[in-house]
Amino acid sequence: MSDQKVDHQSNADELYEESGQWTLNTGDETIHAKRMPGKFRSLKWLTMSVWLVFFFGPYLRWGDRQAVLFDIPNRQFHIFELTILPQDVWMLSLVLLFFAILLAVVTSIAGRVFCGYFCFQTIWTDIFTWIEDKLEGNPAKRRKLDKEPFGLAKLKVKLPKHVAWLVISMLTGISFAAWFTDAFKLWHDYLTLSASTLAWAVLGAFTVGTYVLAGFMREQVCFWLCPYARIQGVMYDRETILPAYDFKRGEKRGRLIKGKQQEGHGDCVDCNQCVAVCPTGVDIRTGQHEGCITCALCIDACDSVMEKIGKPKGLIRYACLDELEGKPTKPFYKRARPLVYITIMILAASGIIYGLANMAGIELKVLHERQPLYIQQTDGSIMNKYYFKVLNKTNSDQTLSIRAVGIDGLELRGISASFNAVKGDVSSLSAFVHADRDVLTQERTDVIFQVLDSEGKVVAEYASMFFGPTK
Ligand code: SF4
Ligand code: SF4
Repeated sequence: MSDQKVDHQSNADELYEESGQWTLNTGDETIHAKRMPGKFRSLKWLTMSVWLVFFFGPYLRWGDRQAVLFDIPNRQFHIFELTILPQDVWMLSLVLLFFAILLAVVTSIAGRVFCGYFCFQTIWTDIFTWIEDKLEGNPAKRRKLDKEPFGLAKLKVKLPKHVAWLVISMLTGISFAAWFTDAFKLWHDYLTLSASTLAWAVLGAFTVGTYVLAGFMREQVCFWLCPYARIQGVMYDRETILPAYDFKRGEKRGRLIKGKQQEGHGDCVDCNQCVAVCPTGVDIRTGQHEGCITCALCIDACDSVMEKIGKPKGLIRYACLDELEGKPTKPFYKRARPLVYITIMILAASGIIYGLANMAGIELKVLHERQPLYIQQTDGSIMNKYYFKVLNKTNSDQTLSIRAVGIDGLELRGISASFNAVKGDVSSLSAFVHADRDVLTQERTDVIFQVLDSEGKVVAEYASMFFGPTK
């Protein structure tokens, strides 16, 4: 038992030695957060790795082109086999709606999980500060270095970090541009200095933006620039689970004296480790804060402290306000707010699935000539004129033909038997359609135009009218 006390004593001394160095974020000092291992730290590395797709995704090929390509100049989005043209943009709106609501539902259940684990700003900042930690030393050394006057010695320490930051910033710019044009050609154009003005502008904007936002502004972006940080409050309620300090268990906080808790004190030993690791400089013990990105790194820190002083973990943990106040709580699927959000998400997802299932490779639009509606030919037949627009949304040129059905003996004239529909393009055609006067029994008769592929399979159709004189 006495050994354990001595152990706790030395652990506490170790904690307090550095605790005086940590201050709260007031915006006038660079936050140098301490990096500590823990399960949420590991989880953060794992979720951060999702962004590798951003860097490597553009190099994935599909057939003779990039697997995912947002081809803005040609107004086409290629996603593997799928080509989305401006006509299908409603589906893109549903995709955006789906992700917006997904963000809302996750926020209402577990706070700013997106900020803590997936947001490019917090992730790039985390990578930049990791490099800083490796090249300039721990937070105490960095604070000291910041205070030193500028000189050659300081430049020698600082320069490698800035070079590394700039390289990552440039790679970010190139990777962003690569989603909108052929990635390999883009590299070639940059390396031979023959890239377009737009490509250089994107690279410049992203390099400067990433360098400044992740290198210098860091958590200030979350505090002052991020609109999501401003609106998150309306998505929270008393049952939203967030990294939270168990004030009932922790207060009254007080330092250990000789490895022992003082009389009447709670479990918080006021070591400030939770503040030390916070990338936004928040003191979670003061309650919910708009600067908290719910990264849960303070949970790792506090758990390690509790382990050192022989107390149960979870003084800071994921918990909702009701739980902390000892009130009954409901699982998320019984709460109105997440249920409403999930319903909207299901509707949006159904629309997307419907759109994908019904998205044709070839689309046909038909316009009837209004002036005149029909012409009676000298041979007694009735002629109508139609204009066709055939959109080829597939990934290859197609040999197609058009036919009309619905009236016996319909005949298309003035149009070639087949035509070449260029991929991603609209083919405009017109035709005179002839019908025998005798088969027309009314002023308007239904007629269906069909587009056939080279094997004679109907790939698109359009219902229209054939006009003739009254009997
Ligand atoms: S909450 Fe935990 S990490 Fe924070 S000061 Fe108290 S004991 Fe230390
Ligand atoms: S208070 Fe905790 S969860 Fe919130 S940002 Fe700081 S370390 Fe992350």
